[in-house]
Amino acid sequence: MPNILDSDIKFLPGIGPRRGELLRKEFGISTFRQMLYFFPFRYIDRSRIHTVSEITPATSYIQLRGRITGMKMAGTAPGSRRLTMTLQDPTGRIELVFFKGIKWISEKIKPETEYIVFGRVSEFNGTCNLVHPEIVPASEESTAGAGSISGVYPGSEKLKNSGLNNRAVIKAESIILEKYADSIEETLPEYLIRRKGLLPLKKALKNIHFPENDMVLSLARNRLKYEELFYLQLGLLKQRSVRMRKDNGIVMHKVGEAFNRCYSSLPFPLTGAQKRVIREIREDMRSGRQMNRLLQGDVGSGKTLVALLVALIVTDNGYQSCIMAPTEVLARQHYNTVSRFLAGTGVKCALLTGTTRKKERERLHEELDSGTVNILIGTHALIEESVAFRNLALAIVDEQHRFGVEQRSRLWSKSEVLPHILVMTATPIPRTLAMTLYGDLDVSVLDELPPGRKPVETIHATERQRRQIFSFMKEQIREGRQIFVVYPLIKESEKMDYKNLEEGYRTITEEFKAPEYVTAVVHGKQKPEDKAHDMELFAEGRANILVATSVIEVGVDVPNASVMIIESAERFGLSQLHQLRGRVGRGNKKSYCILMTGYRLSKESRERIELMCTTQDGFELAEADLRMRGPGDLEGTVQSGLAIDLHIANLSKDSRILEDARQTALEVLEQDPLLEKPGNRLLQQQLQALRRDGKLAADYSRIS
Ligand code: ADP
Ligand code: MG
Repeated sequence: MPNILDSDIKFLPGIGPRRGELLRKEFGISTFRQMLYFFPFRYIDRSRIHTVSEITPATSYIQLRGRITGMKMAGTAPGSRRLTMTLQDPTGRIELVFFKGIKWISEKIKPETEYIVFGRVSEFNGTCNLVHPEIVPASEESTAGAGSISGVYPGSEKLKNSGLNNRAVIKAESIILEKYADSIEETLPEYLIRRKGLLPLKKALKNIHFPENDMVLSLARNRLKYEELFYLQLGLLKQRSVRMRKDNGIVMHKVGEAFNRCYSSLPFPLTGAQKRVIREIREDMRSGRQMNRLLQGDVGSGKTLVALLVALIVTDNGYQSCIMAPTEVLARQHYNTVSRFLAGTGVKCALLTGTTRKKERERLHEELDSGTVNILIGTHALIEESVAFRNLALAIVDEQHRFGVEQRSRLWSKSEVLPHILVMTATPIPRTLAMTLYGDLDVSVLDELPPGRKPVETIHATERQRRQIFSFMKEQIREGRQIFVVYPLIKESEKMDYKNLEEGYRTITEEFKAPEYVTAVVHGKQKPEDKAHDMELFAEGRANILVATSVIEVGVDVPNASVMIIESAERFGLSQLHQLRGRVGRGNKKSYCILMTGYRLSKESRERIELMCTTQDGFELAEADLRMRGPGDLEGTVQSGLAIDLHIANLSKDSRILEDARQTALEVLEQDPLLEKPGNRLLQQQLQALRRDGKLAADYSRIS
């Protein structure tokens, strides 16, 4: 029997087809149940009526009681009309301002009647007023059906204009809760509710809309957050446990000559973190289980070398590996680095990219097929149909966030047995986010930089300092150093961005004239050959300056580069700025990062720039990014479609609940890995329902 809560929202008294359609369009609400899950984003204590004299510019929402003593209309053009009313209470007066619905409001308001007014205080020309407050005759207030704490719901102008203001939403919620509360079915098993001391769902939903008091409200929020995070983790961890149970990994028994030769000829000792991570990966690869591991390491922490050394373990066991990079330039760079390390080891590595010539490609295919090539490095080109390995056992994906899930899954189809997977990312992901995005992966962290790295001196500058910066650049070039100049590239304003880059390039080549100076330029609109040419020019030290767009090369390694100039730095997120800054400071000389911005900055941009100037810690910056911009905006998550749509929980604030929920999910799965016990039927059903509705982030991050 269908549940009444799944009825179309338009059938709810007071909604109807027009508002129903708006609710669907604006908030994705099309059923009673979805309406019930439309939560207030804040609460106000409506048991208290304040006075005008209490208002300060710092007051946010306030509830007042008084008479309307004046009303005046200003403006004549339809868009600029404004109705101002004066509300008088025993302590003073305040203006109520309306831009819309003027006729309706002015006709409704009667003189000598007491009103309860509720709204947000805003400041205009040094005086406070309320813009578009709710206004209800005091005599009606008691019928609102609300308790003393009442919810403020997200509202859109459109909904308000169609009469669905906060009061109407409250009304709708109260109807659902009064009439259909019995149809609310519990979504967590009884034993969990008891063990965790959670509120039952019905009570939680009642209180999230109409809190009995502060304490129950916070229990209600806690229950709903807990549930959301619990199912997210349960979904992820269940996939992981299914994977772990399978006896499906190619076993790497030994460490042999290839590894040892390369290892003993390294020009520097590995860092402690590199050693530890290589051990973790080695344990995985000989366990008999297929590895699915995320390697996180701040920029410059030496991920490439880790990748190479574990690939050599695979070589030693007679299997092939591949390393996939997001761009041609990065693939080339990896190839060059790896070839250097491999000199004299007898291990053969090859490069395959979009620009590899047909003949060369055909030869490569043969060598892959016969097993002559041990390590293949390349771009997306290596997941093309025609590429067939003899026995691929390890796939390493660098800078993972540039790869779509679909592309990754093509990799897995390259061998009969699933190869071990190592995903490397330089984006420091805060712990809470990693748990959610990569909850089904094992995580290794390179949390140590090679010794001798100096912090990059970071400076904020504006156009006024341009001349100074030019002469500083010349000074650095005279000392034999190289310079990056990076322009933002954001999809929506791509055209403008390219224009800025071209202009910037022109200005720089005018100031830094050839042949005395060589300036390379690299961006996404070039032909791959031109890009590779200019990139090489810079990588080999023949160009002094590289002008580039930001999306170009997150991973380029040019240790001689000492200055990173970031144009329009206010347009970048913290994590991205940190990535870019990580391109310098890799050698042993002092390095600089110059953040160029406009003169005027929003408060948030200023904070971000200041934080960049004061900290070098990628994790601290990523946490701050998460706090300031929310997880959806984190670099990488946007590009790969990993945005997490949490309903009530907040990854940056609810990490305690998240950890608890994860722990509980682990315990549940330990007892019942496939959720087959009768007591866990509900869990299984809920997971299926969530997955069906696309609410489980699990599928985004699944990599096998
Ligand atoms: P990332 O983790 O950003 O990819 P890379 O692998 O590009 O870092 O390494 C950055 C630089 O550090 C490279 O020039 C590399 O050769 C060097 N490097 C790697 N490991 C060490 C180490 N243990 N000691 C000194 N330098 C190292
Ligand atoms: Mg790298």
